[in-house]
Amino acid sequence: MPDSGAISSSRIPSCWDEEQPLLLGHIGKTPVIEHKTGWKHNNEGVTPYLDSLNSLGKKFRPKSFKEFVGQNVVARSLLTAISNRRITSLFLFHGPRGTGKTSASRIFDAALNCLSFYIDKPCGLCQECLLFFSGRNRNVKEVDSVRINRKERIKSLIKNAEISSRFKVYIIDECHLLKGESWATILNNLEELSQRVVFIAITLELDKLPHNAVSKSQKYQYTKLKEIDIISRSGKLCVAEGVDFDLDALNFVATKSKGSLRDAEMMLDQLSLVGKKITISLVYEVVSV
Ligand SMILES: [Zn+2]
Repeated sequence: MPDSGAISSSRIPSCWDEEQPLLLGHIGKTPVIEHKTGWKHNNEGVTPYLDSLNSLGKKFRPKSFKEFVGQNVVARSLLTAISNRRITSLFLFHGPRGTGKTSASRIFDAALNCLSFYIDKPCGLCQECLLFFSGRNRNVKEVDSVRINRKERIKSLIKNAEISSRFKVYIIDECHLLKGESWATILNNLEELSQRVVFIAITLELDKLPHNAVSKSQKYQYTKLKEIDIISRSGKLCVAEGVDFDLDALNFVATKSKGSLRDAEMMLDQLSLVGKKITISLVYEVVSV
């Protein structure tokens, strides 16, 4: 893997390029409905691993734990879990918004099926990684908590998680929105699931989850990012996108984002659209002080 810190051109080719034809077609026998936003789901509330919004953060989404910003403890722990084969059926990623929970889920998915013998996964080079990063991997699904929020739908999801030689991963975003009966269905079936079926439940609000969901999961806490990490990432994004910037402007963006990398990336997106150079005066003008 190339060093993530080395940005040598103004346009980094991204495996996450939203123009890639990711996971189209059908899931099981249920037709996939395409939304104007580019998000797709079927009537089980399952969203293929896809989004089509072309923001800076998504365009240069991290593809390895090395590129993953500001959550070193989590990254190390997840890699260790994979290398020690301590993969449970339910992972719980919790912490403030914009701290990398969904990005980590995706990297983790890729790492689980990576064929490399090295600890540093995903390698980005093996057959599974190439499949994953080209968007043709059908073993990862994002699940809409609201749409899936019925016992029958959860059961159908579990039933469709057929035994495979590869890991099948379901990412349940905003899992605090799941009803008690939905959680009960997941938890009651955990032990019968194939060891290669993994649920990653993501939430901002750990205290809203049923106690047994918390106790039966392998938990990873995401913390607010340090300003220095947000500044570093912002600088790399600007260089990659060919946008000139003043450092004090990025410092201010980092302060305003209050530990949320996503907020910082959204501000940069906006700023990069209105000026050729991101200066402190532009930031004052665009971002409310
Ligand atoms: Zn690989």
